Amino acid sequence: RAKETGKNNCQLFTLAMNERAQQRLVLEKDLRKAIEGRHFEVWYQPKVHLPTGGIIGMEALVRWRREDGSLTPPLEFIPVAEETGMIVPIGEQVLEAACRQAKTWHDSGYGHLALAVNLSVRQLAHKGLIDFIERLLRRTDIDPSLLEFEITETAIMSRVEQAVAVLEEIRRLGAHITVDDFGTGYSSLYYLKRFPIRGLKVDRSFVSNLPSDADDLAIVRTVVSMARGLGLHVTAEGVENVAQMETLRSLDCDFGQGYLYSPPLAAGDFERLLETSGGILRPRSL
Ligand code: C2E
Ligand code: MG
Ligand code: MG
Ligand code: MG
Repeated sequence: RAKETGKNNCQLFTLAMNERAQQRLVLEKDLRKAIEGRHFEVWYQPKVHLPTGGIIGMEALVRWRREDGSLTPPLEFIPVAEETGMIVPIGEQVLEAACRQAKTWHDSGYGHLALAVNLSVRQLAHKGLIDFIERLLRRTDIDPSLLEFEITETAIMSRVEQAVAVLEEIRRLGAHITVDDFGTGYSSLYYLKRFPIRGLKVDRSFVSNLPSDADDLAIVRTVVSMARGLGLHVTAEGVENVAQMETLRSLDCDFGQGYLYSPPLAAGDFERLLETSGGILRPRSL
């Protein structure tokens, strides 16, 4: 009996494995087609100056438009794209679309909006990255100082020496670097001093329980004060309510991003937001 059950479990396990492997293959195949067909869209979430509510720029966030019209969020395909290296062509398409869009907005008189684009480990390690950025800056003619790359601590620390060289190249081109999801990876204070970074983005997990969680409060306060001392900007991710916003303001955090102000929006909707807000965002619930 026991032997029988064991055998059945084993078959079930194999079936489940096959199914997962199958799903994974389908995902990879669909992703490859999506790259060819350029089926990715870039959505934009405003970055807000906390004391005034002024929109200082936007973060570009990729979405995959499937053939049935639905949107697949990044967390459902970025990990596979990262593993297979497909993140490189996807990232190039995102960067190109975002730079063109930013240029259009700059030319339309929406002001000096900064554009933030995420870069993953694999993109950072890709030999052609700097050349690609350099050519793109020339082709789109955007002001490099308005371009900012968001890189996680984990991505930087996974191959420190190589990452530092790439970060320095990015700085040479005139663009900026911020550390994304700060606090969730290895936090070496040494690299904060040594790397050519402009700012830190405090991870959402430290923001979501403000102000009631005393530990999170202490962490954010310390990050802001350390950043001040090092001459870095601080952005809070995932600001969802007024209490969080007010706490972040009182802690002297520079910038905020989150559903309280706006979720990420398709380009057309983001443009309407710029238009109707006059560049100043008030919390959506007020
Ligand atoms: P991230 O760079 O940390 O981006 C912030 C994520 O938080 C976004 O999720 C955004 O939609 C979400 N978010 C913003 N405000 C709030 C809020 O108030 N509450 C909550 N709960 N969430 C909020 P999204 O767009 O699903 O992206 C997830 C991650 O995928 C990004 O995290 C980034 O690591 C990666 N990603 C997105 N686009 C790209 C890309 O073009 N290239 C690369 N390499 N990675 C990307
Ligand atoms: Mg980011
Ligand atoms: Mg982040
Ligand atoms: Mg995050």
